[in-house]
Amino acid sequence: MTNLDFDRASGFANAALALLKRAQIPPFPVYYELFYTYATGSNAELNTQVNALLTRSGTISVEEASDLCEKFLKVSDMEEKLRAMSQVMSRKITDVNQAIDVAMVSANSYSGSLQQASGDLHAGGIDEDALKMLSSRLLKETRRMQDMNRRLEAELENSKDDISVLQRDLDEVRKESMLDPLTKIPNRKCFDEQLSADLERTHAQNATLSLLLFDIDSFKAFNDTYGHLTGDQVLRLVAHVLKANLKGRDMPARFGGEEFVAILPETELAGAVTVAENIRRSVQAKELLKRSTNEKLGRITLSVGVAQWRPGDTAAALIERADKCLYAAKGAGRNRVVSEKDLPDFSTTSTDVA
Ligand code: GH3
Ligand code: MG
Ligand code: MG
Repeated sequence: MTNLDFDRASGFANAALALLKRAQIPPFPVYYELFYTYATGSNAELNTQVNALLTRSGTISVEEASDLCEKFLKVSDMEEKLRAMSQVMSRKITDVNQAIDVAMVSANSYSGSLQQASGDLHAGGIDEDALKMLSSRLLKETRRMQDMNRRLEAELENSKDDISVLQRDLDEVRKESMLDPLTKIPNRKCFDEQLSADLERTHAQNATLSLLLFDIDSFKAFNDTYGHLTGDQVLRLVAHVLKANLKGRDMPARFGGEEFVAILPETELAGAVTVAENIRRSVQAKELLKRSTNEKLGRITLSVGVAQWRPGDTAAALIERADKCLYAAKGAGRNRVVSEKDLPDFSTTSTDVA
């Protein structure tokens, strides 16, 4: 570490401690990490949200800091889990390698003993006493070998259990890596993978699929009025409504920021528009209340773009068409569903769509 690194890191540490002191938040490691990350400026969304809270009330409560930790430090939790797993895995591999090395040495020495015994026997002229000695030596060696094999077997058995525990942990981390930490619905990475698999199947089976793209209307203004953490509750609510309205193989996901997406396999445009309308109405129908104070926060609305897959479409082309529809919904006044059928150039490009 250079002097410069030391000075920079000390500067971030001091800034983090000053913020904690100002907000009267105890400098527990998680809170310290949160404000240290804020001081580095490496996470733009974290900084936006902290700044919004500071602008609104000049401080941050412990509850707000906990929410921010939950939202922004989750990834490092997962990295920690992966690091721990990889350590266990490499210890296990070393153990198994050592056990195999010891077994190989034993097996070589056993084979040497057998060869020597075979040489002695071939040489002939062996008397009864020498034969007894030879057989007792071989017996001893065989027992040692059996012992060795049993130890190796136990070691491998033991590793098998450890490896299945690791496998389970790995599955859990994989599942977690596919979920958006805030809303607990699939994240963008999961969506990309699922859409690509669904499109492959749709193409192979000559089937159909529709895509819904949602964007919360005027969400910046909502955040500015009620704060980002209340905004986060709204994101959770929208995710909840999506889940409640989608069935079977349909999949909702957080596309990014305040945008959501839903894949509807085996659904034609008209059916997809109906699902989109139900979701839009259901979100609009909810009167938002701030949990801590019961303060009424009004309602929020969604604009939705709907597109149907056409043979030859890539995932990007399908998303782009849904996005065009979403853009048209915003342009037409927000809080509405626009499908590609509503677009002016639909008839010239829609020969494959029913
Ligand atoms: P429009 O109706 O045109 O979509 O307007 P908008 O204000 O929703 O759109 P804009 O793109 O201007 O702003 C999006 C806002 O979404 C700004 C950003 O702070 C907010 N946002 C993005 N991600 C999050 C998040 O994780 N939590 C919260 N609370 N807000 C978020
Ligand atoms: Mg947006
Ligand atoms: Mg928006």
